[in-house]
Amino acid sequence: MDLKSFWAPHMGAVSLTFDDGRPSQLQKAIPAMDKRGIKGSFYLSMKKETWEKDLLPWKEVALAGHEIGNHSLSHLCSNNLIGRRGGLDDVTLPEIETDILAAQERLVQIAPHQSQWTYAYTCYETFVGRGVSRQSYVPVIAKHFLSGRGGGEYGIANHPGRVDLACTHGLATDRMSGFEMIGLVEALAAQGQWVILVFHDIDGSRLTVGHYEFNLLLDYLHRRSGEVWTAPVAQVAAKIAGYQAAHP
Ligand SMILES: [Zn+2]
Repeated sequence: MDLKSFWAPHMGAVSLTFDDGRPSQLQKAIPAMDKRGIKGSFYLSMKKETWEKDLLPWKEVALAGHEIGNHSLSHLCSNNLIGRRGGLDDVTLPEIETDILAAQERLVQIAPHQSQWTYAYTCYETFVGRGVSRQSYVPVIAKHFLSGRGGGEYGIANHPGRVDLACTHGLATDRMSGFEMIGLVEALAAQGQWVILVFHDIDGSRLTVGHYEFNLLLDYLHRRSGEVWTAPVAQVAAKIAGYQAAHP
C-alpha cells in the first residue's frame, strides 16, 4: 500500500475522541476546538436516569459538525474493573447487542443527520462472558457500525491497509503533557498512520488532561493542518473502508 498517495495531500490522520459525555468536554474541549475549526468524535453515555436532559446540549455539538458516537447504554465493563458482579463477565452476546442498539435509538434522535455511526468499547474491553464461555463482541460491532474503537499498548496507531475497523486502536491520553501528545501524533502520523487519541475529562480529577496541554495539542494540529489530517472517526474510517473494500 502506498501510504503517501492514500493520505495525500496529508501524511497521516488524527482523530480526537471523547468518552462518557463529561461536562468538561462541553465547557472546555469543544469551545477550544470550535475556535480552531477542529472536529472531534464524542461517545456519549446514557446510563443515568437523566439521559434525556443530559443529551440535550449534544444536539448543538452534532449540528456544529462534531461526530456523535455510541458508547452503549449501560456502560458495562469487566467485573474486576468495576469491583462487583453484573459487568461484561455476566452478559451474553444478545444482551450486549440489545443494550447497544437501545443506545443507538436514543442517539439518532440527537443527530438524525448522521449517516454513518461508530462505536467506542467501554473500558476498551471487547468481550462478554468469562473463562471458557468468554466471547468477543467485535462481530456485533462489525455488524452494526462503520467502526469500533478499542485500545491497548502505548504508542500504537492504525495502519489503513491492515487495521480491522471493527476494533481500532485508541490511545489513552490520561495525564499526558501537550508535548507528549504532539510527539506521538508527529511520530505516528508521519509514518502514514491514523492516530486515535482518547480523552475523558479536560481539567478533571480522573482520566484527565490539562486545559493548557490540550490547547498545546490543538494549536499544533491547527498549525500542521496541511500535513496532519484531523477529522472525526467516521470520516477517516469511511476513507479506510473504501480502500479496504477495493483491495481485499
Ligand atoms: Zn466510557
